Amino acid sequence: MRKVAVVGGGASGIAVAFYLLENNYEVDLYESAHQLGGRMGSEEMDGRWFDFGGKNIGRKYSMFRNFLRSMGRDMFEYFGFNSSQVIGGRVVTFSKGKGKFANLLKVLSFSGLSGLARLYPCVGAVRNDYSQGALNTPYFNKISAECDHKPLSAYFNRKCVNHVLRPITVRMNGAEPDECYFGNLGSNIALALDSYEQLSEGMYGTVSEFGSRYPSLRLFTAHRVDSLSFDREDGRARVAFTRDGVQGEREYEKVVSALPAAQLIPLIRDALPDVAELLGRVAYYPVAVGIVRYEDHVFPDEQRAMIFDHSSPLSNAGAYGIHDLNIVRYTFSGKTARSMIHADAPPEEVVSMGEKIIEPYFNIGNNSRTSFIYKYLSPGLCAYSPYHYRLIEKLDALTDPVKCLYLTGDYRRGASLEACFRGAAETVDRVIQADDRA
Ligand SMILES: Cc1cc2nc3c(=O)[nH]c(=O)nc-3n(C[C@H](O)[C@H](O)[C@H](O)COP(=O)(O)OP(=O)(O)OC[C@H]3O[C@@H](n4cnc5c(N)ncnc54)[C@H](O)[C@@H]3O)c2cc1C
Repeated sequence: MRKVAVVGGGASGIAVAFYLLENNYEVDLYESAHQLGGRMGSEEMDGRWFDFGGKNIGRKYSMFRNFLRSMGRDMFEYFGFNSSQVIGGRVVTFSKGKGKFANLLKVLSFSGLSGLARLYPCVGAVRNDYSQGALNTPYFNKISAECDHKPLSAYFNRKCVNHVLRPITVRMNGAEPDECYFGNLGSNIALALDSYEQLSEGMYGTVSEFGSRYPSLRLFTAHRVDSLSFDREDGRARVAFTRDGVQGEREYEKVVSALPAAQLIPLIRDALPDVAELLGRVAYYPVAVGIVRYEDHVFPDEQRAMIFDHSSPLSNAGAYGIHDLNIVRYTFSGKTARSMIHADAPPEEVVSMGEKIIEPYFNIGNNSRTSFIYKYLSPGLCAYSPYHYRLIEKLDALTDPVKCLYLTGDYRRGASLEACFRGAAETVDRVIQADDRA
């Protein structure tokens, strides 16, 4: 049996391992944490599992849903789309219930005709061919070549930037529109066009099932990989790791990195400095997430989430699930959040800050908090780079000659769970093709 080492046990690493295992490979999966999941991981509160990162599953997520089906864990609950913004002192709600036309009219009124003229063809391209809604696709590569010398915000009026683009880029990339690029917008449009469900039991069941399902999967959790090195003579890769303070090393014919770009850099800086330099151009922004349970409903049925503008560290607060009107998921991201919240910020302070911000709009004042969990995620969300397709091309050109190393992750096709699975599947195809040629 052919054996491959996979580094990183988040969505991308699980996906790489899944596709390899389904193709009769043996897999050694290295993960520095005690459990798999990474930014798709869950945590327990009052006997229920809650997801901190990737949680909403688009109806168009065909690869991710196929994985869930294979794990026998595809029990979904509707999440829907319902979100409000305060615009000019008024609360404006976008929701599925209001109908596509009403939502479109709102987008039109914010973006103006020139904004709509720029957005409409891009939306059309993804609608016609959903595979274009990712990083590095022919349609958006052309736009990238023409437009990425300026950030996204330079192409739209202020209202469109603040009320149409910002809610999307801050939510999906943790970045402001002046930190994002037109060429990467396809991945955001794909997410914005989809409608969502979530797993009734959270991601926990799926991740656990995956970890115990395959006899040919060796799980090395609590193994932090310290470096990857490559012997070009014998064509083998060495994985050096630390477990419980003890160092070790294993050799493989092939290693797949499924780490975020930022986390791969220190592992390969010595062996492949040019690759490390390129990976350093991929932007990541931190996100803090608090999930808080209250005694009574915080949200009314018809208004389950609110997006806040650039002046607020809280980017979004919403009901955890459609029936969880007493459980709030607070997300802190974007420039203001970055200036106020850091890795050591006390969770209690951050959550209280969120409560103060939503208090004028929702039932928080006399509503007791019963429990909460909190996480500061860094890297949080990937915001890619300008001319991102060229970066990927260069990465492939630099890593192809190192025959034993393959790279995938959230920077390859996009940060959604579906995009992580797509990037992983394509990478596994390359591994299999190389083995078939050998
Ligand atoms: C707050 C938030 C909300 C999100 N919501 C959604 C959503 O609703 N829907 C959606 O589709 N997507 C969502 N996403 C995006 C999606 O969850 C992530 O892009 C995806 O989970 C990233 O997976 P990954 O495997 O590429 O990276 P990671 O999950 O970061 O995995 C990398 C893994 O590698 C491990 N690791 C790091 N360094 C080492 C090392 N040296 N040695 C060994 N292991 C190491 C880490 O512990 C981690 O487990 C969200 C993300 C965030 C942060």
